[in-house]
Amino acid sequence: MEPIHKMKLRQKYTLPFSLCFIIIMVLPLLSVRDSIASLPEKKTCFYGNKICFYAKDTQDSLDGYLQIDCPEETTVAFGATFTNLEGPFKPLNKAFKGTHLVSLFHLKKPNRELCKPNCRWNYKWGLTYHIGTATRQHDEDAVYALPYEVDQEYRLIQGEHGRHSHYGPLAYAYDWGMPEGTKIYAARSGTVIETFDNSNVNGSGPSNHIFIEHSDGTVGQYLHLKHKGCLVNVGQKINQGDLIGLSGNTGKSTTPHLHFHVSTPLSNSPYAFKTFPLKFKTCEGVEELKQGRWYKRCSSPSLSLQS
Ligand SMILES: [Zn+2]
Repeated sequence: MEPIHKMKLRQKYTLPFSLCFIIIMVLPLLSVRDSIASLPEKKTCFYGNKICFYAKDTQDSLDGYLQIDCPEETTVAFGATFTNLEGPFKPLNKAFKGTHLVSLFHLKKPNRELCKPNCRWNYKWGLTYHIGTATRQHDEDAVYALPYEVDQEYRLIQGEHGRHSHYGPLAYAYDWGMPEGTKIYAARSGTVIETFDNSNVNGSGPSNHIFIEHSDGTVGQYLHLKHKGCLVNVGQKINQGDLIGLSGNTGKSTTPHLHFHVSTPLSNSPYAFKTFPLKFKTCEGVEELKQGRWYKRCSSPSLSLQS
């Protein structure tokens, strides 16, 4: 149950993209610091403060910037809609590595003498990001293990296209309701590329998570883990079925559960990534999971051969 905005992601938005003039300005950090420091802006950060959105609100204009400081190549998408603000804007979808300041828009506010009686203005925005660039394909033959202990059974409280939060780029995601502290096992083999388990907060802020990169380049994301619930380290090789963490209820989560999805970066889209429909090995065989049903993990030696 991961609202799109966080991702990671954050909110569902449909954008009437116009083919406007693109204004993207990339400057080195040194020149950024002076200008950012002087901005009386609202700031919202993601990805452990590696990506921050700033809105500078002056008397006559509204300016939007992204400050990016990503050591790994990261695809970032930003979209917005504006009411009563004038100027060019084009949604952003671009891969960044290193430190950048990106100018997203410079829009004129309504002229206070001429705009009466309707001088109100506003805007809505959304940001998504994903490690890597959009060159990866999901292995359609991959069979995933249920990410919990053998012989345990949990209910899929939200599945593909779930109306609570599995829409847009998160259309193919899976939530199993389970008590906090439930042992989480790798659904597929790979290498740990990111862990975060410092959050002790529910409802806002980051979700504790483990990201595992698979052999096809896709990334399996295990979200909402318990505080200090990551039992693996970045760079560690993981086999399918290995114990990796403990479930929780951190970040934008409305009930204790594990959220899992597999994603790749995506270009030419309002979103920075896409997710994939997955097949899981259950006690019934290999199947696509249905929301509301209970699924038991059966032991299967052959699963350990999956990569
Ligand atoms: Zn979810």
